[in-house]
Amino acid sequence: MGGVYIHVPFCRKKCFYCDFYKTTAVSQKPLFLQALHREIDLQCGYLGNEPVETVYFGGGTPSVLLPSEIADILAHIRRYHTFDNHVEVTVEANPDDLSSTYLKELKKVGVNRLSIGIQSFHAEDLKQMNRRHTRDQAVHSVYDAREAGFNDISIDLIYGLPGLSMARWEENLRQAMDLPATHLSAYHLTYHEGTMFFHWLKKGQLKEIPEDESIAQFEMLIDISAEAGYEHYEISNFARNQAYSKHNSAYWKGKKYLGLGPSAHSYDLISRQWNIADLYHYLKSLDQGVLNFEKEILSPKDRLNDFLITRIRTKWGLDLNELQSVFSQKARNKLEISAEKYLKSGLLQKTGDIISLSRKGIMVSDEIMLALLSEEDQ
Ligand code: SF4
Repeated sequence: MGGVYIHVPFCRKKCFYCDFYKTTAVSQKPLFLQALHREIDLQCGYLGNEPVETVYFGGGTPSVLLPSEIADILAHIRRYHTFDNHVEVTVEANPDDLSSTYLKELKKVGVNRLSIGIQSFHAEDLKQMNRRHTRDQAVHSVYDAREAGFNDISIDLIYGLPGLSMARWEENLRQAMDLPATHLSAYHLTYHEGTMFFHWLKKGQLKEIPEDESIAQFEMLIDISAEAGYEHYEISNFARNQAYSKHNSAYWKGKKYLGLGPSAHSYDLISRQWNIADLYHYLKSLDQGVLNFEKEILSPKDRLNDFLITRIRTKWGLDLNELQSVFSQKARNKLEISAEKYLKSGLLQKTGDIISLSRKGIMVSDEIMLALLSEEDQ
């Protein structure tokens, strides 16, 4: 099984924390679509004969696309690939793009999952982040999506924002839990270089929240989402009724994926490649029928470390038998030695041959993952 990721690089407005590749030149959409269709042709062999299990429209803001444009892209991919019977087709969307008519049309063209970028229900936070939507638009978008027949609805929230009090974060969470969504992705704010937030932080115009508050907000997220029936299945992801994101799960299970559009990444088990993160050069290359990407062949050490990091971050954990059969007995032994101190301190837990993060361990997952990384080929 394989996945297809399509990066739609347009945003009507840039959010102050965001470091995804995007442009506000929405007028370039027709040229982008032309180039994207060309790229689908040129990359038709990338996934081999793998049936497509997931198609993910990310961005940028894929909800700038008309449903008919999404239908054309899906039809074009289908010319080369069989879609699995239970294919998951996700569109990331901004709440203010999701009118009832738009939602119904999306459903008709085969989109069956939405990922709605809500981030916060508070006007103050939304303004601070330069988001376009209002609280009411966020709430209505989820109800309208249900009404239009979407059963799989994911919402995104951000915590750790400057000035975000525990009380306001709790209100955000309780509001999110009341909505008829099935999936939640919640990320702590990161100050990425090149963003306005990073710039303001460096100039002293913004202050990071203290670390103990960051941890307390994460703890609150885990507790409130669990009370509301959400299962914490990956560090930043929560699902109700096992509505796990198939697209992300495929990534965590090390499956192949093809990335299309500027800045999109692809992976074929032995190498990674990433498209040029620049719309102008992307269009220019494809106009000449040429793909514009950089590529890295993965060494055995890279593959091992990818395996460790992607497996340990989910509730399904890292299977030592799988590690041994995919890599070697030596890799297993080495991992068992590195994991020992974390098992003793209760940051990792072991059930049979599966090692996973404990609740305490999730709080310091970066440190644990770093310690488990191998420094040599196994
Ligand atoms: S967060 Fe989403 S909508 Fe905002 S600038 Fe980034 S890609 Fe665009």
